[in-house]
Amino acid sequence: MPTLLGIPLDVNSSYLRGPAAAPAKIREALRSDASNQWSELGVDVGGFADAGDLQLSNSSQRVDQDFAEIERAVGALLEKDERPVSLGGDHSVTYPILKAFAPRYAELTIVHFDAHPDLYDEFEGSRVSHACPFARIMENRLAKRLVQIGIRTLNGHQREQAEKFGVEIVLMSALPAYDRLRIGGQVYISFDIDVLDPAFAPGISHHEPGGMTVREAIAHLHAIEGTIVGADIVEYNPARDIAGMTAMVAAKILKEILGKMILQE
Ligand code: MN
Ligand code: MN
Repeated sequence: MPTLLGIPLDVNSSYLRGPAAAPAKIREALRSDASNQWSELGVDVGGFADAGDLQLSNSSQRVDQDFAEIERAVGALLEKDERPVSLGGDHSVTYPILKAFAPRYAELTIVHFDAHPDLYDEFEGSRVSHACPFARIMENRLAKRLVQIGIRTLNGHQREQAEKFGVEIVLMSALPAYDRLRIGGQVYISFDIDVLDPAFAPGISHHEPGGMTVREAIAHLHAIEGTIVGADIVEYNPARDIAGMTAMVAAKILKEILGKMILQE
């Protein structure tokens, strides 16, 4: 079974704090009596294992130690042949997560759902900002391929970075693009909730209009071909949510990812 891991870290957020409170809220929504624990793929996902939340300082003075703890904890799950599904936290957590995956999966393709490419070399003086994780991942060769989908904030610098690292970008304007997700091999999914239109998911720090419907996101998740060895869901910000509706969306996305993973067992 896939194993949940909460990563309550939002110290590398550039604009607003809040995602550190997300793991507990997503678990609560997943268990809510308002819905059941079946994926639309026809799978009961309720039997997932849960490794709980990491104990992190979430302090700007101790980012190195927090990243080391994330890498250690994810690595420990992988050593037990488990498939970690991490609940962020801001998107900076994907870099230490991939540091744990890379030595064990040499041929990994990352499918990255996001409004933003997160490819800045540095952002506001930080190289570990949530705007930078995929620059760190690609320059350290932690993945063979990076396929980004839903992007709608590409600027000149990040376009250059994408070209430098060979990132395959599927712009939001190019959807639907199911054929771009016929990947094969081992796949890691990194799902930033802000890939969704803020109308569907207001509980995020960076409202970027013109995004996916929940249905489009699920359809593209279901279209991924390849063995899903791990995933993360990041950037849910409960402080910006309205009546917990984005928590339910995050739980829905989680159920569909878990359903796909369980079907592959
Ligand atoms: Mn992101
Ligand atoms: Mn984003």
